[in-house]
Amino acid sequence: MYDVIIIGSGVMGMSIARELSAKQLNVAVLDRDVPGKHASYKAGGMLGAQNEFTYYSPLYELARESQTRFEELSERLWEEVGIDIEFKQTGLIKLAAQSEDNDFVEAQSQFLSKYNPLVRDLNREALKRHTHGEIDVAGLAATLIPDDHQINANKYTKALLKSLNKRNVHRWYQTEAQAIERTSSGYVVHTDRESLTAEQVIVAGGAWSADLLEDEALKRQVTGVKGEVLLVENPDLQLETTVFMTNGCYVVPKNKSRFLIGATSLRDDYSVGVSEAGKNWLFDEACAKIPGLRNSKVLKHWSGVRPYTRGEQPIMDEIEEGLFVITGHYRNGILLSPVIGELMAEWLVDGQKPVALNDFAYVRGELNEVCD
Ligand SMILES: Cc1cc2nc3c(=O)[nH]c(=O)nc-3n(C[C@H](O)[C@H](O)[C@H](O)COP(=O)(O)OP(=O)(O)OC[C@H]3O[C@@H](n4cnc5c(N)ncnc54)[C@H](O)[C@@H]3O)c2cc1C
Repeated sequence: MYDVIIIGSGVMGMSIARELSAKQLNVAVLDRDVPGKHASYKAGGMLGAQNEFTYYSPLYELARESQTRFEELSERLWEEVGIDIEFKQTGLIKLAAQSEDNDFVEAQSQFLSKYNPLVRDLNREALKRHTHGEIDVAGLAATLIPDDHQINANKYTKALLKSLNKRNVHRWYQTEAQAIERTSSGYVVHTDRESLTAEQVIVAGGAWSADLLEDEALKRQVTGVKGEVLLVENPDLQLETTVFMTNGCYVVPKNKSRFLIGATSLRDDYSVGVSEAGKNWLFDEACAKIPGLRNSKVLKHWSGVRPYTRGEQPIMDEIEEGLFVITGHYRNGILLSPVIGELMAEWLVDGQKPVALNDFAYVRGELNEVCD
């Protein structure tokens, strides 16, 4: 019998497993797929704790807290497993995609600068200077968020996986959890291979988390939002700061003169692959503001499905004694994973819900469906 079975080997499941193993618990992580397939491996890697928020909330607080973990975490993972997760102090520029969005950018800038005096507006000249002349646009508001940095999400997820291997966390791949049954001493997780037992179970199945739980309301509250991404190479482009536009298109400078262009948002779409329409939209929107990107060589494209909940409020709760669900981190799962790993491990070991998770309860039976 395991102490804890975690269903889902994305950043959420693995971060929790890593913290639980540090507390000497006997942990198993199940995934129905092989590593590399899902959102955690596909993300842009932005640590956008400020970029993603326009007003104060407990989630903003958690995001800011989690953001502070990455510098040290990158060093620890390097020492532990020899993978460089490429923590880069690039900062981020929020840019209005069109003049109608200027008010939004300015209001967000006002909110962010209340909490962080480093956040500042960039006029046309300052924007041009800051991007080494790559962005020269008239009449569009821009804000510099100098400490919204980034990592390589794919390498981060691989590093977590390698860390679990080293820590002897038991991993079950190509093993689908099909049902969770409560017993007098804990839970049985029935899989397509065999049945496994544990005292506590965490469902961290990303966009599929609600499928396993016999709760119709939860199923209506969690869905997937597919995102498509392009990776291009351009040794001549001088852009060093991430640029995030109000239409959701972003350009993240990566190592080796590479630039990640993301991301589309296709709700309830669980398909794999990048459409021609998606590729064209990403490339055209990025080049409209950064014309130097036009000469890039497209290296790769990929997609992933983000776990989305109504109100973009993650669900992190114990839905029955010893049965937890952790999902809905949407565009911020990479960013939030270190702090969620710590808090969940604390909860499971101490038996006391951390105050920081109070606002992410699942409201049982609530019929607030995911809808526009
Ligand atoms: C294109 C794109 C760009 C993104 N950019 C960023 C970014 O810049 N910054 C950021 O912070 N976040 C970003 N995200 C969001 C982030 O990737 C997600 O929030 C995060 O990866 C979710 O992690 P997870 O562990 O919950 O889910 P996942 O990574 O989806 O993992 C869930 C796992 O559960 C498994 N599973 C599901 N059901 C079962 C079952 N019944 N049995 C066994 N296994 C099961 C799946 O196979 C999967 O491996 C992006 C996402 C996408 C798609």
